[in-house]
Amino acid sequence: MSRIAFIGLGHMGGPMATNLLKAGHQLRVFDLVAASVEQAAARGAVAAVNAIDAVAGAEIVISMLPASRHVEGLYLGNDGLLSHIPAGVLVIDCSTIAPASAQKVAKAATERGLAMLDAPVSGGTAGAAAGTLTFIVGGQAETLERARPVFSAMGKNIFHVGDSGAGQVAKLCNNMALGVIMAVTGEALALGAAHGLDAKVLSQMMAVSTGRSWATEVCNPWPGVLDNAPASRGYSGGFGNDLMLKDLGLAAEAAVSVGASVPLGELARNLYALNSKAGRGGLDFSSVVKLLAPDS
Ligand code: NAD
Repeated sequence: MSRIAFIGLGHMGGPMATNLLKAGHQLRVFDLVAASVEQAAARGAVAAVNAIDAVAGAEIVISMLPASRHVEGLYLGNDGLLSHIPAGVLVIDCSTIAPASAQKVAKAATERGLAMLDAPVSGGTAGAAAGTLTFIVGGQAETLERARPVFSAMGKNIFHVGDSGAGQVAKLCNNMALGVIMAVTGEALALGAAHGLDAKVLSQMMAVSTGRSWATEVCNPWPGVLDNAPASRGYSGGFGNDLMLKDLGLAAEAAVSVGASVPLGELARNLYALNSKAGRGGLDFSSVVKLLAPDS
């Protein structure tokens, strides 16, 4: 079992830390939100007063933060966290951030004698709670082997997709597909409902037909279709609209950097931007259906 510093205890980090505790690892935890630290402490973690305190004595450091600026802000700079972590420690960032940011932080870590992986995840808050996440890993293969026991405590699928930053590229490809699929699923259900169809029956049919997806079966955007989906609890919890908007922006940047064309990804990015402007930035991204069916 390992001594782990866990930084960022939000929708994803909170349950991921809980699963590490359940597997018997020792955790020192920190988040800017004191209540999240207290919750983790109630489950057996040691509450740290700041990130530097969290990494004291750690063999492994894991971060789960919103975006590139938070990750760069945490690790880099003269008094950044990397300068407080002894050589030899394994650093794993599970946030979804720009591939270039991941490479920048990994390079700085390597220069300090630290092994680093970018390991963004897929599976949503339900996967984080159930310990069934998919880890999408960029970095050296032997570093991944060191991390495998902690990934296994939080997830069930581990993919090594390339060097530093590759985990982020692969994750952005997945989320671009997800963003498009969620938007078009909402569009299809809104069309059916406008014709007087029952969205639940329509969803059940699609879930066993060729239109099936995670958006029909697990995170259906129509309220009342799936009891456990964010749509059925006012779109609370889940994967925030503005996090999807961030990921689609990162996918667009990644496309520009290699001259690739992502027309549907760009269209979806604009839909999530409109949804954010409509005041739903903090709600689950499936609330994008409200643009097409405000009375759903
Ligand atoms: P969140 O906003 O719920 O949690 C982020 C946490 O980081 C917050 O609690 C915040 O207080 C904390 N934080 C920010 N800066 C900090 C700092 N400097 N030090 C300590 N704590 C700090 O976000 P989330 O939904 O948990 O997502 C985290 C990451 O995982 C994002 O990059 C997101 O894109 C990705 N992701 C989310 C989901 C999902 O379904 N929510 C799924 C897959 C991947």
